[in-house]
Amino acid sequence: MKKLLAVLVIAVLVAVPALSYSVQAEPDAIYYNAKITTLDAAGSRASAVAVKDGKFLKVGKESEIKKLAGPSTKMVDLSGKTVVPGLIDGHTHPVEAARMIEKWVDCRYPGTKSVKEAMEHIVDRAKVTPKGDWIFAAAASGSENKFEEKRIPNKAELDQAAPYNPVVFLNGAHESVINTLAIAKMGITKDMKKLKHGGVIMRDDKGEPTGDLIESEGDVPDDPTEEDLVRYYSESIPDIWNKNGFTSILGLTNARTLPVLNIVAASKTAPHRLRWTVPVWTDPGDKLLPEDLSTLAVSKDADPAWFKTGGIKAWIDGEPDARTGAVYEPYLGHFPTDIPGGKGILNFTQEEANALALRVDDAGLMCLFHCSADHSTDIGLNAYENVLKRGNPKNILRIEHFGVFMLSDAELKRAADMGIKVSVQPAWLTTLANSNTENLGKERAATGFKFRSMIDAGLEPAAGTDVTGIYLVTLNPFLHMYAAVTRNSDMGIFQPEQAITVTEALKMWTEWAAKSMGEFDLKGSIEPGKYADMTVLSDDIFTMPKEGLKDVKVLKTIVGGEVVYDKK
Ligand SMILES: [Zn+2]
Repeated sequence: MKKLLAVLVIAVLVAVPALSYSVQAEPDAIYYNAKITTLDAAGSRASAVAVKDGKFLKVGKESEIKKLAGPSTKMVDLSGKTVVPGLIDGHTHPVEAARMIEKWVDCRYPGTKSVKEAMEHIVDRAKVTPKGDWIFAAAASGSENKFEEKRIPNKAELDQAAPYNPVVFLNGAHESVINTLAIAKMGITKDMKKLKHGGVIMRDDKGEPTGDLIESEGDVPDDPTEEDLVRYYSESIPDIWNKNGFTSILGLTNARTLPVLNIVAASKTAPHRLRWTVPVWTDPGDKLLPEDLSTLAVSKDADPAWFKTGGIKAWIDGEPDARTGAVYEPYLGHFPTDIPGGKGILNFTQEEANALALRVDDAGLMCLFHCSADHSTDIGLNAYENVLKRGNPKNILRIEHFGVFMLSDAELKRAADMGIKVSVQPAWLTTLANSNTENLGKERAATGFKFRSMIDAGLEPAAGTDVTGIYLVTLNPFLHMYAAVTRNSDMGIFQPEQAITVTEALKMWTEWAAKSMGEFDLKGSIEPGKYADMTVLSDDIFTMPKEGLKDVKVLKTIVGGEVVYDKK
């Protein structure tokens, strides 16, 4: 009996650890029969992953991973498809996109080819809009280069299309035209030069407003209601991004809408399915930033796996596609909406940029400067150099749209030497290369989109859709990969020697995007311990003809081990 007891005790002693191990380690799900590109340091491929508590437990061969399965493990066959780390949108404007997709009149080229067609769309909307209500219309940036008439509509045309409604016609994110009723409703009077949030009012010789507004996005009176915002944050935005293969976004947010975002972020009831890093954007000149920047943080009640504080984003200038990016030499030709002097717009002096960068770093927040042309890029780099003089920065220093429109060798070298982060939009090759060349001339435009040079210099450019609702095609990450790899643009093959590989193009949306947000320890590759975020693709992007890249479809988006989008 004693002997038997001893045997039993030994058996229990042996069995207990084994049992507890298997209880602990039994995966919640196993995804198998897949061609997985892990993007780990060794560049490993795998055929299966095991997921536990929303993170990768093990990554490897199907035969090994399947052995971990327990009775409650969900087994998911991925039918031999290509799987990549969950895509990360490194710079985007989710609320603007959601509201434009749902509410705005679509006047976007190439769907809308002329001013005439755009006006027809507005006439149609006016018919179903109560008198006095606002009508907002979105057109692709640089529409004056794209519409048949080679111009954008004017105030009189908008008056005619919607005589009883105030109308805002957005020509990209940096310029708009408004009609007479909108001028009155926005309280714009003769000789007034600026709007509350920094928008510039263009005026004729007599000081009368022409209806053109520059950099007035913050002043457009389309504040979504709280109800709209809750729906955007909890449904529309995850829907839009999950469908395009995204598991995480750096979602630039208006300080005015942050309180509602925080309510959704702190909610324990709604299942989250898109991870957010939330930088708040300031108005030009940072006049409206609160004294205490920590008040712009994400709610402490939010789970940081889903919502994280980002930092402060500031527009140092406009953008060359709207001829408002700050350039040293004037834009070519002349448009009636050009800023006097023809060198674009600077929202910050060097001193103001320096002060803001130091202030953001003091607060321990990420600093994101939008710098789209040569003059503004120098201002951003100078401000960061000034921060680095004090020693290591407390958080990440980034330049948005770095070198997309233009970039000097000196600026590239400075950015690489300083080790700052940069974000880029490769698909603009397919939408803006032509207008960029018309605006800047061949020589300056040829210095844009130099992704090969950036990578060779040691930068790790993060890709971002920068979707504001104006160019919806750029929501497709595979159009960006296609452009970066083939260099096919809206003016033919552009600087083919600047082509990058498919793996590099994928890293822009995964590893490098994660690093640009300081989150590579948790995202950006398929490795044990990281969030179980994956994107399942229709094609093998590594072996397919490069021309087909833009047509790749997302079959499944998996966040925290759960399928959040499934293309049926
Ligand atoms: Zn942006």
